[in-house]
Amino acid sequence: MRPMKRHLFNRSKDIRRTILVADDEEINRQILKRNLGRFYDIIEASDGQETLERIRRSKGELSLIMLDLNMPRMTGYEVLEAMQQEEDLQRLPVIVLTSEKEAEIESLQLGAVDFLEKGRDMPEVVVARVQRSIELAEDTQIIRDTEDDELTGLYNRKFFFEYAALMRGRGLEQPMDAVALNVDRFHILNEIYGRSFGDELLRALAQAARQALKVWGGLASRTEADTFLIYCRHIEDPGQLLRILEEEIRRLEHASAIRVRIGICSDPLQEMPPEHLFDRAVSACHSIPGNVTEQVAYYNESIHERQRFEQRLVADFQRALAGDEIKVYFQPQFHIHGEDRPVLASAEALVRWEHPELGLLSPDQFIPIFEKNGLIRRLDQYVWRRTARHMSEWKKNDQPILPVSINLSRVDLFDDELEERLIGLVEEFGLKPEEYMLEITESACAVDMDQMVAKLNRLRDRGFVIEMDDFGTGYSSLNALTEIPLDVLKVDMKFARQLTADEQSHKMISIIMEIAEWLSVETIAEGIETEEQLRIFKSLGCDTAQGYYFSKALPAEKFEQMLRTYFPKEESVC
Ligand code: C2E
Ligand code: CA
Ligand code: CA
Repeated sequence: MRPMKRHLFNRSKDIRRTILVADDEEINRQILKRNLGRFYDIIEASDGQETLERIRRSKGELSLIMLDLNMPRMTGYEVLEAMQQEEDLQRLPVIVLTSEKEAEIESLQLGAVDFLEKGRDMPEVVVARVQRSIELAEDTQIIRDTEDDELTGLYNRKFFFEYAALMRGRGLEQPMDAVALNVDRFHILNEIYGRSFGDELLRALAQAARQALKVWGGLASRTEADTFLIYCRHIEDPGQLLRILEEEIRRLEHASAIRVRIGICSDPLQEMPPEHLFDRAVSACHSIPGNVTEQVAYYNESIHERQRFEQRLVADFQRALAGDEIKVYFQPQFHIHGEDRPVLASAEALVRWEHPELGLLSPDQFIPIFEKNGLIRRLDQYVWRRTARHMSEWKKNDQPILPVSINLSRVDLFDDELEERLIGLVEEFGLKPEEYMLEITESACAVDMDQMVAKLNRLRDRGFVIEMDDFGTGYSSLNALTEIPLDVLKVDMKFARQLTADEQSHKMISIIMEIAEWLSVETIAEGIETEEQLRIFKSLGCDTAQGYYFSKALPAEKFEQMLRTYFPKEESVC
């Protein structure tokens, strides 16, 4: 634990500082009290043990300790030694009092900041030296507090980049590397194992960063929650850095759940300013997918391209909304349970970006970017509105209305106005909530489960249907599943994909069907591409199927045409 910031550690002249005077001889304490009492509050201790106890008890208030070296029960040396062992006592300034000149060196080595010879120094000299020691300690602390990241003691972002620029400015003798490291899915580990575990993990990484500095020199910083930056001499073997990290992580609980990712950007020609180097190192770090074994990525052209592409999409987004480039496609879903032939029953609204220069973009190309920077909320609200508008037009054109699912990203679920927004939409477009189904993913509920459950319950009470998307890919326990208010499980398409190759997945699907039955919810199979897959899902009791076997997602007009052919005018669905 780092020491708490002492309020006295500001240079305010108005505050009276407190000094502990520790000496077994009453007369010595009296002399010091007389000299210093006008300027400082004095507390006293008359033996070593009492001294240490008072220091521990009053550490938040003490500005200075004046310590006699020869005291009963515990000598001044022992007190100094004990203070060195305790992190929050290490930085308290101590002036040593003794009559032996030779003791000076030893006490300074033990961390004392100054030395006074008893009875020799003039009162004014004593006061001046006390004042100077306190000021020096306060200044050092102020610098530390502003430079350091509280949790890890590493530099904060501002100072890290200032010092990195200074290092470069002085001219580097060797090529430097920018190294960014972070923890894969840190927020989830934090959720599952608790904040104190998260803090411990971050401190372990900081320790590893300090070890790395011993090998490659340089500077280290923690800039965001779990992102650490190291500016150091070129690392020939990144495996060595990984081993240092693993050594620290190994000591932690849940070590096997922790995976660190390292992004490196080398600068052999020493041309780039540190900020640019680290942008690239961070991009390289983020380019490592969650599900692979590689832990190190070097910045390269393709990452650079990717970064440029992402920046371009963000820059074009506003224009896309205004210029009608964002479209909603509809993928039909068919009832298969108890039917001889699949029956068109509902649809999923899926976003597409008809980009004038880049062509048709699929959501996988832009949703992850917008989820990172928060634009997803605007995109989703746009898609929901457009979906509702299409549905109301079909209604106006006397088409039968099929329920349509919209996708909610986890960011949407944090929106305090989500309920009003969705209710407002269905009312505005004359729809019923049950015609407008909401797809959420398990991970959306991983953070703040209670709040999410309450929110979903309110939506369900208003009549909305809640579907769990990509079921089987998340981390939900069965216990969590019983708490999340659900109407439908959408079985992730990986199960359909594995079906023919893998006997095990057959069993997995029947287990999922049993879970659905136990939860009393319906099931939708995603990614059905073949008749064989359809047959198996149907035989296992799945209610509904969606996939290329039936149809890809269609532009709104095409889907409306499909409705028209499927349900000639006189028939009605609902
Ligand atoms: P998802 O919600 O799991 O949607 C299903 C995805 O699988 C869709 O891809 C769909 O076109 C595709 N798909 C459907 N049937 C098959 C099949 O038989 N085989 C294969 N290989 N794929 C099939 P799409 O439209 O590219 O969407 C990808 C993901 O993007 C969606 O996965 C969803 O998570 C997200 N997404 C799409 N639209 C939105 C949206 O409006 N808002 C948000 N937040 N996310 C969206
Ligand atoms: Ca979906
Ligand atoms: Ca899905």
